[in-house]
Amino acid sequence: MGNSSSIVFLEVAVAAPVRHTLTYASPHDHSGLLVPGIRLLVPLGRRLVTGYLLGVDTQGVSPGKQIKQVSDVLDSSPLFPESMIPFFRWVADYYHHPIGEVIRHALPSGLTRRSTRRIVLSSGGRIFLEKWRREKREDAEWVHILFEKDQLSAAQTHRLWRTPARRLLETWKHNGYVQIIEEVSRDTTKPKLERYVGFAKSYDRVTEAVKFLPSEQKTINIFTDLLAESDTRWIAKTELTRIYRGAAKPLRSLEKKGIVALRDFRVYRDIFGERPRFFPKPEKLTQEQDKAIATINRAMRLHDFATFLLHGVTGSGKTEVYLRTAEAALENGKTILLLVPEIALSSQLEAHFYSRFGDRVAVLHSGLSPRERFDQWSRLMHGEAKIAIGARSAVYAPLDNIGLIVVDEEHDSAYKQEDGLRYQARDLAVLRASQQKAVVILGTATPAVTSFHNVKKGKFTILRLDKRIEDRPLPRVELVDLKTINTVSGKTLLFSPRLISAIKETLAQKDQCLIFLNRRGYANHMFCRQCGQAVQCQLCNITMTLHKARGELLCHYCGSQASGAIICVNCRSNEVVGVGFGTERIEEELQKLFPKARIARLDRDTSAKRENYLATLKAVREDHVDILIGTQMITKGHHFPNVTLVGIIWADAGLGIPDFKSGERTFQLLAQVTGRAGRGEKEGRVIIQTHQPDHYSICTAQKHDYHTMYEREITLRSHLSFPPFSRLVNLRLEGKKEEEVEQTAVKLAEVIRKLLQNRKGVTLLGPAPAPLTRIKGKYRWQMLLKGKNVRMLHSLCNGIFDNAPPAVKAGTIKMAVDVDPENML
Ligand code: ADP
Ligand code: ZN
Ligand code: ZN
Repeated sequence: MGNSSSIVFLEVAVAAPVRHTLTYASPHDHSGLLVPGIRLLVPLGRRLVTGYLLGVDTQGVSPGKQIKQVSDVLDSSPLFPESMIPFFRWVADYYHHPIGEVIRHALPSGLTRRSTRRIVLSSGGRIFLEKWRREKREDAEWVHILFEKDQLSAAQTHRLWRTPARRLLETWKHNGYVQIIEEVSRDTTKPKLERYVGFAKSYDRVTEAVKFLPSEQKTINIFTDLLAESDTRWIAKTELTRIYRGAAKPLRSLEKKGIVALRDFRVYRDIFGERPRFFPKPEKLTQEQDKAIATINRAMRLHDFATFLLHGVTGSGKTEVYLRTAEAALENGKTILLLVPEIALSSQLEAHFYSRFGDRVAVLHSGLSPRERFDQWSRLMHGEAKIAIGARSAVYAPLDNIGLIVVDEEHDSAYKQEDGLRYQARDLAVLRASQQKAVVILGTATPAVTSFHNVKKGKFTILRLDKRIEDRPLPRVELVDLKTINTVSGKTLLFSPRLISAIKETLAQKDQCLIFLNRRGYANHMFCRQCGQAVQCQLCNITMTLHKARGELLCHYCGSQASGAIICVNCRSNEVVGVGFGTERIEEELQKLFPKARIARLDRDTSAKRENYLATLKAVREDHVDILIGTQMITKGHHFPNVTLVGIIWADAGLGIPDFKSGERTFQLLAQVTGRAGRGEKEGRVIIQTHQPDHYSICTAQKHDYHTMYEREITLRSHLSFPPFSRLVNLRLEGKKEEEVEQTAVKLAEVIRKLLQNRKGVTLLGPAPAPLTRIKGKYRWQMLLKGKNVRMLHSLCNGIFDNAPPAVKAGTIKMAVDVDPENML
């Protein structure tokens, strides 16, 4: 687009909190191509920041306007395809997030350069600083570091820059005691290069007359042997040096003589470590699968946007539908995006795809290091991989020409990002498909109420898989009413006699049991026996959970821990006791009841490391485990053929949460856990323990009755005018001082009420303290905007930004805008 002779104006999204794109002039001396998708270094205020080139401004620039010039071009080829730009623009608009920050969030990390400052002590400064410290008795950490190390790193300086120390340092600079060095940070993520050895072009002309040293001859012999076994002309240097350690030196001399050539090739870091298992392709599809696949493939041939809700009971073979339609898309020369809810952990789905498509798969999830993620990203960008698989952020995978997008377990709340850029990846997947004229499959056994509503309105097409593979029956589900169970001396009874005898029978038959409780830890309430005071986290007003094995109390919101003897903050008594229960306690109790059983537990505590998680799953698959205890983590997508009993300790855990989605979520969770039983040859049995056996979420789950649950839920929502009958935007304010947060919330509400005067159809609920009133030391207030008209709601949000109270504009109170919130805590 541009070259050295003419200046063009560029539309740039800067990686900074700037809500619109900016215009810059191309650099004078740039001879490379300025194509959309590359990074630029541009001036912003007094600093240099990373910008992403979106396009050339053909509008020209109004005269008199000062246009700054791009100061550097950071890439020679784009990081994302041009076809993604409209997608980024839409995300920025809809979620009210600065567009440059959207792109930065989408790209692999470590690619954001900016100017940084470092402080270096000058020779005269040292004497000054020593004297100054003595006189002022100043002992701040940074002063200490500056004195000891003669300098402060960019990160340390960055932290100081928002404190009064900045003034001081600027004066010192003026007096020549320190230098403030401004420089541009480097990329921390780079391609991995590996050195390869090949015969040089001039090698053919080498005559017999050339004499080799013995070490050179040895190197050539080994190299020739390796070449003979290989189907390429290049051998990794490390392969040579592995066989012959001393090869490095003769390689250099052989290169000088024109015998061999050394070249760096880009290689990709192996993210799988151990290659996943191989899954054979089933020979015959079920009738239902066949029909679903045919319908989807037909839609793909039309090259037009279509969304299918694949409603298939657990174990009905949804994966095979994804695999076959992906195969068809590949044959049409299209690319495929597959989203899975898991975070950091590898899913079976990933293994299925890898087993079917091999190296055409690239994986993007948060368990990868930034470098590995960058490699996977680049393989997709350069078309070396055609299938992107990943958790929610993979919705930004750099794919062009998408034919198919699959969202597995579409109802899962893990698709919602809950901080920073708050987006719903399932919704974005549908949007991206509409822009690319691609086909979407939303797969689930328990559709989100909003998705099913879209079927009823004709926006989505439903495809049903009502039968399990090989007509295996759905498991028999029994409810145990905990109210009717006599408890021993008033203590909570964890296991009803019915559950205990079912476990016994299952163990006797050498089958596996899965015991589910969606709460980790040992005891989830700690309180003082003397005065009744609950033990709360110092930073969050939330009770702490006892983790007995670690000997610690843990806050599940901020991770704060307390260990050692716990003393009541109120009366100083040390009689602090725990009540309530979590998975750790269940494990201990079950081990007491069944001392011979081999018990394993899967929750965030036991699988902080991916290896441990994978090892436990493997142990279950290979029948080294009799009872598996777990949280939500065991409900997703795992296929354990020998599990015949599923026990749910307490189904009501999520029902008391003040959130309009809690009924829907409880049903989905129970249905998912229930679906783990009887996936093999033998029939499955499920026991749900509950205090509310009449609650619609629980009794519909017992009968595998999605439709009744949906009708109940949709009626409720319609009465209360909750989604899908309206759209919501939650505005949350956070700050260190309680009073200031409250006052700002009240002011913000006033601003909104004023804006609402000439807009009918949007209502404001609140402001009120958030149900979790204090997290990580920050007080939280929120208010909810509800409206039927999306456009109206969003234009209102724009007005809010422009008229926000001063504390929000100054940044002392943080305002988070959560569009389509999934979680109101
Ligand atoms: P879902 O995702 O719907 O819960 P899966 O896709 O995991 O179910 O399928 C359940 C099991 O059935 C898997 O082991 C899968 O390999 C197997 N399977 C799927 N389709 C077929 C088929 N047509 N014939 C035989 N086995 C199949
Ligand atoms: Zn007390
Ligand atoms: Zn906390």
